[in-house]
Amino acid sequence: MSRGIAKVAVPAPFPEALDYLFSCGAGSSVKPAVGARVRVPLGNRRVVGVVTGYAGSSNLADSRLRRIVEVLDDSPLIPENLLGFITWAARYYRYPPGEALAAVLPPVMRQGKPNRISPPRWYRLCSESRFSPRSQGQNALIERLRRAGSAGVLVASLEPADRRRLRRLVARGVIEPVPSGGVSRTTVAVEFNEEQRSAVGSLRKALSGYASILLDGVTGSGKTEVYIGAMREVLQCGRQVLVLVPEIALTPQLLSRLEAGLGLSLEAYHSGLPAGERLRVWKEAAAGTARVVVGTRSAVFLPLLRPGLFVVDEEHDLSFKQQDGFRYHARDLAVYRARLENVPVVLGSATPSLESLANVARGRYRRLHLGARATGAPPPRLRVLDLRQKRLTAGLSGELLQTARQHLTAGGQVLFFLNRRGYAPVILCHACGAPIECQWCTVRLTWHRERARLVCHHCGAERAVPEVCPSCGEPELVPIGKGTEQLEAVLAEQFPGFALARIDRDSTRRRGRLAELLEIAASGLAPILVGTQMLAKGHDFANLTLVAVVNADQGLYGTDFRATERMAQLIVQVAGRAGRRTAPGEVLIQTRWPEHPLLLELFRRGYAGFAETALGERKAARLPPYGAQILIRADASREEPPQEFLRAAAELLSNRPGVRCLGPASAPILRRAGRYRYQLLLESPRRAVLQRVLDQAYARILALPEARRVRVSLDVDPMEMS
Ligand code: ADP
Ligand code: ZN
Repeated sequence: MSRGIAKVAVPAPFPEALDYLFSCGAGSSVKPAVGARVRVPLGNRRVVGVVTGYAGSSNLADSRLRRIVEVLDDSPLIPENLLGFITWAARYYRYPPGEALAAVLPPVMRQGKPNRISPPRWYRLCSESRFSPRSQGQNALIERLRRAGSAGVLVASLEPADRRRLRRLVARGVIEPVPSGGVSRTTVAVEFNEEQRSAVGSLRKALSGYASILLDGVTGSGKTEVYIGAMREVLQCGRQVLVLVPEIALTPQLLSRLEAGLGLSLEAYHSGLPAGERLRVWKEAAAGTARVVVGTRSAVFLPLLRPGLFVVDEEHDLSFKQQDGFRYHARDLAVYRARLENVPVVLGSATPSLESLANVARGRYRRLHLGARATGAPPPRLRVLDLRQKRLTAGLSGELLQTARQHLTAGGQVLFFLNRRGYAPVILCHACGAPIECQWCTVRLTWHRERARLVCHHCGAERAVPEVCPSCGEPELVPIGKGTEQLEAVLAEQFPGFALARIDRDSTRRRGRLAELLEIAASGLAPILVGTQMLAKGHDFANLTLVAVVNADQGLYGTDFRATERMAQLIVQVAGRAGRRTAPGEVLIQTRWPEHPLLLELFRRGYAGFAETALGERKAARLPPYGAQILIRADASREEPPQEFLRAAAELLSNRPGVRCLGPASAPILRRAGRYRYQLLLESPRRAVLQRVLDQAYARILALPEARRVRVSLDVDPMEMS
């Protein structure tokens, strides 16, 4: 009998994996594999953990080391390289490895139920393989596979020697598992235009190893076709493709276009899937039978038997960053993983993040550019409407209403973009002027007239609309400002003969309603569209000729240094929905700050010009991407503890060369869901310096006595300060 120590990541807030004893001997060989799940005691509970490695010795005394109760998988459930990737990400984002694993594995796997990844049962020759057999045995096997065609050969029907040959040939990309989605269908191919052909050509040349490529293509330039062109080549070599998208429900067209272009069925992976389905896709990805997986941010953690390409569509989108718990950025992780797996990653966008553009400038990413719309349509015409001193109808200028009327009567479709849902964002008392605030947050309540409720957009709390002012008792409450509900009502009044569809989180709450509304929008059945940023993402509405940005100022007065970048991206993205076919598109942008320098740059020189100026400002201020940031957040139900804790933390972090420590300061929303929130911002020109400081100080910060009275979380490379 010999014994050893295994490192086990358990689902509890420990910064490292814990040590557990296992014994293995003649009778019972139970040395757990790295990547296998084990059942271990933790306190007075038993939990399911994952073995991440072994240790020669432990810091714990022998008497305190506890024993693994049960080994749940006799082979690794999580492939070793994937496990290494997840634990790396947990360390980088300073999240407990066991909790990171629990957050990214399919829920079913966190339980102790048996779960084997069954290897694929059928294999076939890759369609493009030009391979000359080295031996008679190989020759015979390949001949047999060739005869079997695309249906393939059942592994169980092979002799052991042939199975070994098969494995070697799979590793060399000659043979592939037969995909689960069935036999290939015919593909719908478009004729690439010159720009697309050149982009696809460059991508194909880059497929043999790691490369980060920014596909910077204006809206409607046909980036999807370029992905398809590169993906085809990857699939023909028997490799898999992972496509990350911001939100599956908002991109039904992407899925169907990929399927049509590739001639095979894709797997979708996102948190909305039923547990069984998530597990199935996870296993098929691990077994290599899922050839193409399209998923949201958590899909970056899917196991892949033979990855060949990663694609991140709309790489600038904020939803790639997880905003609570394990705060990872799926785009950044996709780039890191591509390097680990030695395959290329393509980041696509019409409005690339300033981070990615800076990486191009530094020579870390290559940039491929598509400058024209694929349909040959001219770019939409942008015009600014200065709202100052104009008479407005519920926030709409006469010129905007008149232009909309022209487009509608000419048979066009008009989109009104307003990034604020509800009827009015503030409701206040006409007598005393007090706005009605959330009971739990320092936030004003939004009036939702349809539901007759006041709703907090931060904690979700709601209440009935009071009859009288809660502060002074006077009966006259007035709405201030406009949301999409109000805009809908006003437009219905202005354009009575035209059907209208409103698309925002409220109107699409019912299951299936979003798909329905997008269908109505795409078919042109509703000539008037009203919506939030949900309407700004990759949609292709053929008949849309006018886009109206009702209020561009929202983004210009923001406190977050990224506010203007977000607004520019939203404006360009929503503008890109206009005039995608033959009729020329028009875009009207209402603002009270028409000479805002960044806005001016956007109109004069387009997104590229805007980005150049914005990057210059960031550089001067040493803000990301020219500096790294880490945010330490703390909250508690009373106001003092987070401040005291962060002051003590700042003390520990002071006097570190190359690091600036700002704060503690209150979060932009001081109180949220009943908790007071403060933060400390660490800045340094270099990321590695910040990581090193945390290595030295974070454990001591968490061990501060003040830490016991607060909830602490760390945000590495924060994207939002809120
Ligand atoms: P992007 O994602 O870059 O905004 P899309 O991939 O949605 O652009 O393409 C915009 C439109 O152009 C789609 O309707 C698509 O079918 C069409 N399209 C793309 N490539 C071509 C091409 N080579 N020839 C004709 N139409 C094309
Ligand atoms: Zn609230």
